Parts: sequence; C-alpha cells; structure tokens
Amino acid sequence: MDGVLSITQRIAGIQAQLTALSTPPPPATVDTTGTFDKLFTQAAGEFAPASATSPVDTTLAVTSAVGALDAKGVPTDLAMYGNGKIPAQALAPIGATGHSMWAPAAANFEKLLADAKADGVDIGINDSYRTYERQLELENRLGLLKDGGLAAVPGTSNHGWGRALDLHLDGEALAWMRANGEKYGFVEDTPRETWHWAYYPDRVKSA
Ligand SMILES: [Zn+2]
Repeated sequence: MDGVLSITQRIAGIQAQLTALSTPPPPATVDTTGTFDKLFTQAAGEFAPASATSPVDTTLAVTSAVGALDAKGVPTDLAMYGNGKIPAQALAPIGATGHSMWAPAAANFEKLLADAKADGVDIGINDSYRTYERQLELENRLGLLKDGGLAAVPGTSNHGWGRALDLHLDGEALAWMRANGEKYGFVEDTPRETWHWAYYPDRVKSA
C-alpha cells in the first residue's frame, strides 16, 4: 500500500507541476498596465495621420486644387520666385501642349480643353508662362499697353506668374470661351486682346 500511495502522490505532484507550467502568467500589476496604456496612446498619436481627422487639412487640399492669390494677384505658392523668374519645375505642364503654367491653372485649363473638345471646339495655345527676359523682348517689339502697344510692363504681366495664356481662337472657339471659360477660372481680362485669358481661382466652378 505504501508503494501505491507514494506513486499516487508522485503523479499528483507531477500533475501539479504540469498545471503550474500551463497556467498563464499572473496578470500585470495595475501600475504596469497604466504605463503601457500611456505609452501606447502616445505612440498611436505619433503614428496616426493628422490629416485623417483634421478639417484644416481638408480646406488646404481644396484650396490647392484651385490655387490662391495674394492681394497683388500673385499665386501664393510662386510669390517667392518673382515675376518671370519661376523655375520650370515649379510650373505644371498643360497636358501634351508643350506649354506650362501655374499648377492649379494648368489643371483647370486641361479640363477646359477636354470639355471644349467634347463640344467639337478646338482651342490652341500660342503663349503661356513667359520669362522676364521674353517680356522685355515683347516690350521692345510690340510697345507697352499704356502707350497703345500690346505688352505689359516687364515684371507685371500675368504671363510672368504663370496665370495667363494667349490662345489661338477662331470665331466659334472665342464664343465658346466667352460662354464657358469663366467656369474653369479663365477670364478675358485685357482690353483689345481677345486671345489673352488669365486664371482667377475664385471664379472656378468646375473644381
Ligand atoms: Zn497674353
């Protein structure tokens, strides 16, 4: 009997050891849990994208699609460069036309071109962004607007800010532009120049 009893006791002892091994570790103390929660919350805050919940970022996204001008009519994101001094990489191509201008203007003019084409209207581009040096050449060749010529004073043209286009328009295309251009922000804003259309972000209705 002694032998049987001792075997039973040994089995019970082994079972107790196995149970102890398979039992999950005791729950963490309250202090440790609190620390973990704090660290996790901090880490989650650092990694969470701020734009997901911030209404300010949404506003900025909308503004950048249309663009913003300062009080002098200068694109806020190009003002640092100066009129006619904008590096090529700061401008955006207008589709495959070979022309480039201020990015929001280019994006809206691409829409305009596509919609005009859908209406069977062809619109060509003769001139777009213009460097300060080219504006000087134009002044010499064409004379200043204020003297009855066709060139803006160098350093003041909307072409030098990537805001203006000189378009090739037949009668039908000019009529289309006058009826539809403003929806895309493009306005015929210079007397005697039916080809000159400048981009005004606050006019855009198709964004
Ligand atoms: Zn022009």
